[in-house]
Amino acid sequence: MKQPFETMPTVLNAEEIISKAVRDAEREEVELSDRVPAIIKAKKREAARIRAAEKASAGYLESLVKTVPTIDNLHPFYMDVLEVLVGIAEAKAALGRLSRSARIIREAARSSLSRLRRPKNPKDAASARRAFIGRMASIVRGAAADLETVAKLRERMKDLPAADPAVPTVVLAGYPGVGKSTIVRAISSAKPETRVYPFTTQAVIVGHAKIGGMTVQMVDTPGLLDRPIERMNKTELLAITALSKLSSVVAFIVDVSEANAFTIDRQKALYDGVRESFPQIPFLVFFNKADAADQSQIARAESLFGKRKALSALTGDGLGSFISEVEGALKELYPA
Ligand code: GDP
Repeated sequence: MKQPFETMPTVLNAEEIISKAVRDAEREEVELSDRVPAIIKAKKREAARIRAAEKASAGYLESLVKTVPTIDNLHPFYMDVLEVLVGIAEAKAALGRLSRSARIIREAARSSLSRLRRPKNPKDAASARRAFIGRMASIVRGAAADLETVAKLRERMKDLPAADPAVPTVVLAGYPGVGKSTIVRAISSAKPETRVYPFTTQAVIVGHAKIGGMTVQMVDTPGLLDRPIERMNKTELLAITALSKLSSVVAFIVDVSEANAFTIDRQKALYDGVRESFPQIPFLVFFNKADAADQSQIARAESLFGKRKALSALTGDGLGSFISEVEGALKELYPA
């Protein structure tokens, strides 16, 4: 699937737009016979130049604004990412001002063209055109910062990996070392891919599995859903919100053997924090490393989390019940 920013073309800066407008204007010549009076020729030539410069400036700004996907129609995931990487209010304001600049240039062109209706000599006609070029250039220069904002938006958004909101997605959470990537590897049909999102320090790992006849994305997000929410900065929190828009189900993995150096109690505290940041999303909890845990550890885990499926990603025991529980949750969300 394509992501909405992928096709945005490079954004010209203010000086590039002005030079192009000036060049296009200079190139305009009108073919008229020698018998046509000089003043008529001058009027036609200058009018053609004004129109060419108008098209290269106002026309460019209008088409630029159209190349940006409509922000309000974006999938919530991309909205959150845009908020993190650019700022939605800033992007919308810049686009609004660019459209207004285009309108002002068009108005200036109209009034210059009407001035051209009654010039007394070719010099007057040329000066109406020059006045327009000057006005156009100063409007475009005034839009320089907004052009930079759109250029930044393109730069940051165009290479984001496509995320298909229609594909059911299971996001794994849990402290480092609980076995998330082992589970993704064990269940995926092919080697999981890694994807780089600009707001996470580590690559996101995505595996694909067939579960209950559906192709499901399994996502592991090192550095994001594996530590307490209170210690996160604003960008990380927004990244989590973005992720929550992609998730169908969160599978929270507990290492019941505590071999990852986090006690079951600390894992429960992490669970509570993550649960709170994904209020709308079904949560499944699994006890991994059951092969290495003793009875008292499982009892402690059950007292905190309730009775849950125990599995071992290492030996493969219980992976079948992991899959069937995920399938059950997905079937409720995506009834066939
Ligand atoms: P992640 O950081 O949550 O992705 O954890 P990993 O999948 O990298 O696993 C961390 C370590 O735990 C690795 O050495 C795994 O081999 C080991 N591990 C994962 N699952 C199990 C399990 O069910 N039993 C045991 N004994 N070890 C496991």
